[in-house]
Amino acid sequence: MVNYKIRNRNNSSTKRFIANVNKWFTAMYNWFLDFVFPKKCVGCKTDGAFLCANCEGKIEYLTTQVCIVCQKPSIKGFTHPSCVTIYTPERLYSPFVYRGVVRNAILETKYSGAFAVLAPLLDIFIESVNESSLEIGNKAQIIPIPLHKSRYAKRGFNQAEYIANKISQEFKVSCRTDILQRIVNTKSQVGLDKNQRRENVANAFGINPKNLAMIKDCDIVLVDDVGTSGATMLSASRALKKAGCRYIYCICLAKD
Ligand SMILES: [Zn+2]
Ligand SMILES: [Zn+2]
Repeated sequence: MVNYKIRNRNNSSTKRFIANVNKWFTAMYNWFLDFVFPKKCVGCKTDGAFLCANCEGKIEYLTTQVCIVCQKPSIKGFTHPSCVTIYTPERLYSPFVYRGVVRNAILETKYSGAFAVLAPLLDIFIESVNESSLEIGNKAQIIPIPLHKSRYAKRGFNQAEYIANKISQEFKVSCRTDILQRIVNTKSQVGLDKNQRRENVANAFGINPKNLAMIKDCDIVLVDDVGTSGATMLSASRALKKAGCRYIYCICLAKD
C-alpha cells in the first residue's frame, strides 16, 4: 500500500515535470519564432512590418458595443437589465471587427504560433481597453477562456492566454489559468447557428476544485480572441458565477 502510494506520487510528479518541460519548450519555440518569422504586413504582404501604416488605417473598429445575451446594441456593452440572470456577465467589450487585417493577424498567429504578428494590434487593443475603463475591484483576476487540455497539447499554446497575459501586464492584475477549466472537448463552433452554439458549449466549463475558494466574491475579466454569438463566454460565466464570483467583464480582441 505504501509502495503504491509512493509510486503514484512519483508518477504524478514525473507527469508534472514533463508538462513543465513541454511548456518551456513551447515558450522557447514561440520566442524563437517571433525572432525568425518574416516581417510581412498581414494586410498587403509587403516586407518590413507586421502591420504597415496603410493597413493600420484599414482596421475596422466596432462602433457599437452589444449585450452579450441578445447581441443587440447596448451602451458600453452592459448586459440589458431585461437580459440579466444570476449567471450572466455584467459587460462585454470588443474593439475590433473580425474582418480584413484583424482577421488575418488572428488567423496567422493561430496557425503559426508567432505572437509577434499580433503585437501591433495588441498595442491598439490595450489603449482601447484602457479607454473603455476597466472598472474592476481590488479582488480582480484575469482569466483566459481555456482550451481543452487535449487541444492545448496539440496546439502548444492558447491565443486567449497570450492576450490575457498582455492585459495582466498592462493593468497589473493577476492572470490565472488554474481556475477555469474546459472539461468537455467541444466540437468547433464554425457553421453552427446561435442556438446550436449555446448547446454545443453548455456545461463545457468547470472550476478547478482546488482553487474554488480563490474566486469567491472576486471580479473577473474573462478574455477571448474572437467573440461570435457570446455562447462560450456565457457558458464560462455560468461556471464562474456558480462558484461565487461577483462581477464578470468579458473582453474579446475582435467581434465576428
Ligand atoms: Zn500593409
Ligand atoms: Zn440584451
